[in-house]
Parts: sequence; C-alpha cells; structure tokens
Amino acid sequence: MSEQIKILLVEDEKNVGSTLHERLQKDGFHATLATTGTEARLEISHNNFDLVILDVGLPDDSGFEIAKTLRQKRPSTAIIFLTAFGSPEDRIRGLELGAEDYVTKPFHLKELFLRIKNALRRAKQLTQNTLDYENTKIGRALIHFARFEIETDRKILPLTHKECALLKLLITKKGKVVSRDEILNEVWGDNEFPTTRTVDNFIMRIRRMIEIDPEKPQIIRSVRGVGYQMYV
Ligand code: CA
Repeated sequence: MSEQIKILLVEDEKNVGSTLHERLQKDGFHATLATTGTEARLEISHNNFDLVILDVGLPDDSGFEIAKTLRQKRPSTAIIFLTAFGSPEDRIRGLELGAEDYVTKPFHLKELFLRIKNALRRAKQLTQNTLDYENTKIGRALIHFARFEIETDRKILPLTHKECALLKLLITKKGKVVSRDEILNEVWGDNEFPTTRTVDNFIMRIRRMIEIDPEKPQIIRSVRGVGYQMYV
C-alpha cells in the first residue's frame, strides 16, 4: 500500500475544524488537527507534512507567520490558506508566501477537496521536476535543487518549490526572454490566480539571493513590458 498523505489542519473554530478533520480522514488522508498556533508550530517542528491547511486568523498567532516558519523549515510542504478575510491584499500576501491556494470561508467542502487534490498534485509535480535537476551555479550562488536550498555568501537559505520552479524555468531558457504569463503558467498553473505583481515580487526575492546589487540586476534582467531574461 502506498504511504498515506500527511495533512496538518490548523483551525481554531471547533465546528469547522472537527468537520474537516473527519472528512480528511474519511478520504484516506493522515490528518492531524491543531487548534492553536502553538500546537501548529509544535506539529511542524516534529513532523513532515505534505500539506498544511492554515487558518489565517488564530487566537495566539497568524497563519501568515506560521507559513513563514514553515517555509524556513519545510520548504517543500504545500500550503492552502483558509480565511474569513477575502481581501485581494490578503490573497496576494498568501500567494507570495508560496501558498498553493487561498480559500475564503464559508466554502463548499467539495470545492475545498478539489483544491486540496490540485495543490497536492501540483506540489508533487514541482518537486519531481526539481529533484531531477542538477546543482547549478548562478552568479555568486549555488542552487541545490534536490535539497531546495541556495548557497550564497557561505549561507544556506531554503527555497520553496515555487522559487525552485521559477529558477529552473529561467535557467532552462537562459538568454531568452520569458514572459510573465509564461512564468504564471509554469509555476502557478491554471488553478491559481496570482497577479503579475506576485511574479515580480518572487523575482525580487531571488535577486536578493543571487545578484551582487539587486537594484541593478545583471543576472535576471527585466525586459520592459514583457518579462525577464537570465544571463549567466
Ligand atoms: Ca480562525
């Protein structure tokens, strides 16, 4: 039998939490429920989850802050934010933190399950694509794709699978102009709707890791009105 997919559900509303927890287990997932930020952080530090469903508004913590920790510790874990606030800014913030998806309450269970399956499929696909990729030196940085890490100035920083996928795309197409739409398609897929600003912010983050002067990028250059071009 194949190994069970491990999901951490972080939700402080008792009804929502227990209903979802039950449904996840019924669907064959190995699901763990955490009702506070403290519990969630404890679970994250001890277990390697495939997916974390993360309520943004918690009594003792913020889902966004937990996502930041998760990204540092377990960059390959997929994240779906669950939230009562549906403002575009929150959505963008969530996606910029590397989340696969963002679901606003109240939601339809069927829809959430569809999104869970999509997120897991996408994360697996991105991980597999990246694992085959050899370590690559870019500028002053060395990217260890298989470990989701980038080594720069003797520091090792974690990369999310989206950052890896974006780097991989630019490396594969080095010297050519890659449009923002192409990046959105390759890295985010059809089921998510980040803005082109999300792409720009991801690029900025990567520039800070690999460029000598991120304000005057020499490696990932902007092509006005179109996208980006990598020079190595
Ligand atoms: Ca809540």
